[in-house]
Amino acid sequence: MAGERVWAVVLGCAVRERAVRAAVQARAAGSCGHPGPLLASAADPSAGTRCADCAHGLVEDLLLRPGCLLCDGWARPGIVQARADRLEILLRTCDPCLTTDSPRT
Ligand SMILES: [Zn+2]
Ligand SMILES: [Zn+2]
Repeated sequence: MAGERVWAVVLGCAVRERAVRAAVQARAAGSCGHPGPLLASAADPSAGTRCADCAHGLVEDLLLRPGCLLCDGWARPGIVQARADRLEILLRTCDPCLTTDSPRT
């Protein structure tokens, strides 16, 4: 992961729902075809699922997006990882969105 920090925290409902939606979209979009744990980006689920090696582009893309994926705020530094449907979903969110339990519409 090129030294970027990836966070593992207890996630709120909104983040988990977003991750589950991204997982469904990423699965539908297809995979890089390599074995191993698969990752997908919540910012770009249409890119499909990727192995850790192929996920570089997804990570870089996320790091270039300074905004929270769930609101208009700024994301916290680093990338958040959420497990959904046996995928690791990569997201960036702000602190409040990361742990909030009230789903946003
Ligand atoms: Zn791959
Ligand atoms: Zn937010």
